[in-house]
Amino acid sequence: MTDPDREAALSEIRAAVAQLCARYGEAYWRKLDSEQGYPTEFVAEMTEAGFLGALIPEEYGGTGLGLLEACAILEEISRRGAHAGACHAQLYVMGVILRHGSAAQKAEWLPKIASGEIRLQSFGVTEPTTGTDTTALKTTARREGESWIVNGQKVWISRVQHSDLMVLLARTRPFDAKRKTEGLSAFLVDLREARGRGLEVRPIDAMINHHACELFFDDLAIPAENLIGEEGGGWPVILTGMNAERILIAAECVGDGRYFLDRASAYAKERVVFGRPIGANQGVAFPLARAHADVEAAALMVERAANLYEAGRPCGAEANMAKLLAAEASWKAGDAAMQTFGGFAFSKEYHVERKFRETRLYQIAPISTNLILSFLAEKVLGLPRSF
Ligand SMILES: Cc1cc2nc3c(=O)[nH]c(=O)nc-3n(C[C@H](O)[C@H](O)[C@H](O)COP(=O)(O)OP(=O)(O)OC[C@H]3O[C@@H](n4cnc5c(N)ncnc54)[C@H](O)[C@@H]3O)c2cc1C
Repeated sequence: MTDPDREAALSEIRAAVAQLCARYGEAYWRKLDSEQGYPTEFVAEMTEAGFLGALIPEEYGGTGLGLLEACAILEEISRRGAHAGACHAQLYVMGVILRHGSAAQKAEWLPKIASGEIRLQSFGVTEPTTGTDTTALKTTARREGESWIVNGQKVWISRVQHSDLMVLLARTRPFDAKRKTEGLSAFLVDLREARGRGLEVRPIDAMINHHACELFFDDLAIPAENLIGEEGGGWPVILTGMNAERILIAAECVGDGRYFLDRASAYAKERVVFGRPIGANQGVAFPLARAHADVEAAALMVERAANLYEAGRPCGAEANMAKLLAAEASWKAGDAAMQTFGGFAFSKEYHVERKFRETRLYQIAPISTNLILSFLAEKVLGLPRSF
């Protein structure tokens, strides 16, 4: 359990985030959803308040907070009906530079990311032909003089149109089935320079407003100094950030779950049918009560995973379980909320349907449920590999 002083500080953070979110309100998010718009003002305010620089150490101009605080920030954004997916990457993609960047890269980029001068909101890994089989990805980067020349394709890369930089994973050596994780490299792509000079960006018309795009690389030149870490050593660069990312996304799901239960409980108390509030019917109340139990159990796993992460202890199993349980709990809470709102659940005016669509993503991205189960089966239970 978290100590009482820190718990109090976390409550203060939640209250401050809730206050900021209240200035926007759910109508703001509904409008953006219908227009496929981006919450530029909201993200700017979150950055200025220091929330999106929470994980950047103070020496680089960040707020220097811990993972628990970052979880509280994303959880609260989600709980207030906002869409954390619009800005969560600004909080954690920079970890790639922080953990693996050179001193020059850290000094150059981290203070600008902390201040919001530079947006690092994109992470380019997924490809159309290889999907979850990440190490089989086909985008290549070959060295030519002082540049890396990139060719290939990515899909579902979020916020590319609202980001200045993107972390890109590409093959710098041919695929070797016996050493699948070797020969991949991570790069920092300056999207402002790349667009139209070897990078084409095509937005995807998607179920939720996540600003996801297809990317086409045709001899895009990246300066040699934008390689992050060692050439061929990109897999650990990407992997070391994954536990933190999973814990943070799980916190978002907990926020979504609490949002659904706040809204559905309030509605169940005030909506009167057959002469009494619908919440007096156990058929309405019990699914909400069960969803509450599931969300709170998932929240405990998120806290446990974050505590282990902060202590520098192994947390792969807990981070994956937190993500699995929280994504399922938020979806079940969303389903219970939809049922509670009845026909009005389908009215966009009530906002629940938007959040229902948004929270569904987390069972698929950034890692799908089956891949987590596969990790737990193999790495925790010692069962035979399935792929
Ligand atoms: C809105 C959105 C935003 C995204 N943002 C980003 C981003 O910013 N950056 C990025 O790199 N990616 C992003 N993604 C991509 C996302 O991470 C992938 O969609 C996800 O990892 C699944 O890959 P896939 O869609 O190719 O599914 P596939 O790999 O085709 O898998 C399809 C289904 O089959 C299952 N499956 C596949 N293989 C196995 C197996 N061996 N055992 C059991 N089940 C299996 C999967 O679990 C999945 O349910 C985003 C996706 C979406 C929808």
